[in-house]
Amino acid sequence: MQTLEVKTPLVVRTLATQMNIKPFQLISKLMSMNIFASMNQEIDISIAKNVAEKFGYKLVLAKQESVKIAKPKLSIEQDILVGKKEGNLVERPPVVCILGHVDHGKTTLLDTIRHAHVAAGEAGGITQHVAAYQIEKNGRKITFIDTPGHAAFSKMRERGANLTDIGVLIVAADDGFMPQTDEALKFAQKANIPIIVAINKIDSKGANSDRVKQQMQQRNITPEEWGGKTLCTEISALQGINIENLLELIWLQAEIMDLRSDLSSPAGGIILESKVTSGHGAMASTIIQNGILKVGDCIVCGPCYCKVKSLINDRGQRIEEALASTPVNIIGWSDIPEVGSKFSLVENEKAARKQAEEVEVELKKIQSLQKNDKEEIINLDQLFSAIAAVEEKTLNVILRADVHGSMEALGDVLGTIHSKKIKLNILNCGVGSINKSDVILADTSKAQIIAFNVKTEPNSQALAKQLGVKIIQHDIIYEIADKVREAMAECLDPELQENKLGAAEVRKIFNIKNNVIAGCMTIEGKILKEKFSRVIRKKEMIFQGKFASIKREKDFVNEVRAGFECGIIISGFDTFEIGDIIECFDIIKIQPSL
Ligand code: GDP
Repeated sequence: MQTLEVKTPLVVRTLATQMNIKPFQLISKLMSMNIFASMNQEIDISIAKNVAEKFGYKLVLAKQESVKIAKPKLSIEQDILVGKKEGNLVERPPVVCILGHVDHGKTTLLDTIRHAHVAAGEAGGITQHVAAYQIEKNGRKITFIDTPGHAAFSKMRERGANLTDIGVLIVAADDGFMPQTDEALKFAQKANIPIIVAINKIDSKGANSDRVKQQMQQRNITPEEWGGKTLCTEISALQGINIENLLELIWLQAEIMDLRSDLSSPAGGIILESKVTSGHGAMASTIIQNGILKVGDCIVCGPCYCKVKSLINDRGQRIEEALASTPVNIIGWSDIPEVGSKFSLVENEKAARKQAEEVEVELKKIQSLQKNDKEEIINLDQLFSAIAAVEEKTLNVILRADVHGSMEALGDVLGTIHSKKIKLNILNCGVGSINKSDVILADTSKAQIIAFNVKTEPNSQALAKQLGVKIIQHDIIYEIADKVREAMAECLDPELQENKLGAAEVRKIFNIKNNVIAGCMTIEGKILKEKFSRVIRKKEMIFQGKFASIKREKDFVNEVRAGFECGIIISGFDTFEIGDIIECFDIIKIQPSL
């Protein structure tokens, strides 16, 4: 394996160039890892290392010397705050995301934890929305991302950012594993983050924790008490039962992971949300990932920069500095930074502005190169075997169903569709509603999405519309099969078919002013001047072409019906014989059937 020295930030386009491959090759490889990064996006070093290996490169980080960073001074207070310390490496709280199926209690759990641990009275008891909040108990902290579900989580992943340290997979004891539970589990496993299973609603009537544990076993995440490795606890988010136990498990997992941050490294973090507020201008909710961010620091995030005017924590308090894993609102941006992107510290405002401007220029260049990029993206299609089919047409589809059982049924029904003209190619299938990643995958792979008994997430619907991705959705499986047949037929090139309009028999031949005119009787249908003509002699076609003119008595006409005489001149043909049949026909396009 070849060693490649790289510098951060690692931007997709630059990395591709360094590996001597086209950006689209890198993008598609990232896509296969479920990371949807664009050409100019920054990706995590861990992800970059992973993907580079697939191209035969071992990435090593070069020593960075160009960006001069003001070394942060540690205050005594921070030393106490951060607990264990080894040189500049200090423990940092885990960043946790609550994942799971709808209605299994994610929001309730987030609320219960917040209310039990965020002291009332602070900032009037109103918690500032920072898209994440931090709890503290006996000097130990946990940062919870405040958006339940994997939407926020996958949004970060889409941008190649690894923000979450631990996923809490919530499963309702009275419902068991559901499609979104499985999807969330898949997400977490792909992102390589450990999960802790919280079996919720143990207070409810139909609660059956053992069934959930069995389902965990079936999914190779056997709970510890059953001899497996997955941390698991039974809780009631509503009644606050065992919540402390869950928090202990999170701290235990964090300890195993030995999460640390380097205080001497330049401050940096990730944008969770960003917006313009009336009082503060552009504001971003962020989580700090390294170093210490202080009021007055200058940071850059893509084409935006910020001289930090104020930092506001999750309790609405202004703070002077924020350490790793701290959720904090940053005020003072030049513009709204992109959600999911990373920001990092630079020396001063001048350097920040310069760097942001350089990115802006780069972005403009990229936009002007978009035409080429589009071609590259088109080439991307080659990566999907289905699209490679040249002779035979292929309809690529992505299947989504509510549960595994209906996915199988859908697969079976679609398997019965056969055609010599077009192949149905299932690129991807899964359970759960149609999300943005599905739409992006469909767009890139020129696929249609077939959804049985599932909904489309509202923003995915809009994205599908914008990108022109077709979604076939129904809750009757045979209706879907019919629609898929229709969609397959629509993919076929239209076939040309001849449509006979009428015929005339040549009864007399006239030579007038160098023209040979066939004196005819229309014997069938009608003769239309604008359509095609064909001369048939003794049942054999001897000429095919266009009409030059058709005359009825003294008038030039466009149409002669059966039973009427007319004089016909055909362009390029003048050797009529009596008894020839002049046929009039049209060529029509028809949409072939399968
Ligand atoms: P989410 O969609 O996963 O965020 O689920 P919610 O937190 O909105 O909860 C869905 C429903 O389940 C609500 O009516 C909650 O009150 C209820 N719920 C949540 N946790 C529990 C629990 O521990 N026990 C019981 N009995 N109900 C719960």
